[in-house]
Amino acid sequence: MSPSERAPSPFAADPAPDAWPRDLILRSSDDVEFYVHKAVLVLSSETGAFRDIAVPALPASTTAATDAPPDLPVIQVKESSLVLYRLLLLCYPKRKGFITGDVLEHIHLIYRAAHSHGMEGICELLRSNLFARISDEPYRVYSLACSLGLPETARAAATETLKGPNLLLSGEYEIFEFTLVTGSYLIALNRFRTQCADAACIAVDNHGVIVNLEGEDHCWWSTKGHSRGCGAMVTGAGTDKVWRPAIWFQEHIARVRDAVRKTPCREAAATALMDYTPCFPLIGGCSLCNADAPRQLVRLANKLVPDVGAQIRFIVDHYRF
Ligand SMILES: [Zn+2]
Repeated sequence: MSPSERAPSPFAADPAPDAWPRDLILRSSDDVEFYVHKAVLVLSSETGAFRDIAVPALPASTTAATDAPPDLPVIQVKESSLVLYRLLLLCYPKRKGFITGDVLEHIHLIYRAAHSHGMEGICELLRSNLFARISDEPYRVYSLACSLGLPETARAAATETLKGPNLLLSGEYEIFEFTLVTGSYLIALNRFRTQCADAACIAVDNHGVIVNLEGEDHCWWSTKGHSRGCGAMVTGAGTDKVWRPAIWFQEHIARVRDAVRKTPCREAAATALMDYTPCFPLIGGCSLCNADAPRQLVRLANKLVPDVGAQIRFIVDHYRF
């Protein structure tokens, strides 16, 4: 059998001059030996996974160990040296800062390792770190959360994806984390986005194309006071009477609907509604709309945008991840 490789600092066989002597060796699946302190592992494992390991009595001196380490017990673990190194760093209190680095790249492996060794405190730390990365990497976090069985983190990450276009449909967005989950999770995310988009469109339509709004005082619903060719149209009579708002408003609300279809969120609705520059050619030809539309669009935004948010929130709260 070839000699085992030695782990990097601080788990190498040769300790720092003032290091407390290590009393246990963990051997990784790729045959790397990590010199550790049993007490640290016991304290890190709430289930006491390492509690019953017999170790030799510590030397009386607390200074450096000899060059030749004592005959320490060796535990074979199933984790690779890469994962074991990161897991052990998390076990040592002064090392927890490392997690701000590239942890997403290996977090699913570290999390499973911590879970299998009963290290719930470290699992909680990793869950918190994963959640904190949602705004930066929503698709990566969504996939990781699904693969680790964390539905609420998956829900939060899926909700965050709504703030941008659907990268699942781009055909060019490929990330390693997609390989960690079955296609059903990606289909579920796609379906979630579609349901949110449908709900947002309903909210937009409720303010923009629902007819028979007699008494509505927005200028686009008025049939009087407009320049020729502008203003609402009314057809039918009695209970069959139907209002259609000014053409420029119909086109504008269609753009708002397109925006929330692609990006189902309040921000997209507000941005699209208040960007009425495409309406200028038509609005500019009508003195009534030219004077009133900007102010009234703000009023509309104050009602429509919260409704979009509420419709999406209902889907978010009830979707099963
Ligand atoms: Zn007009």
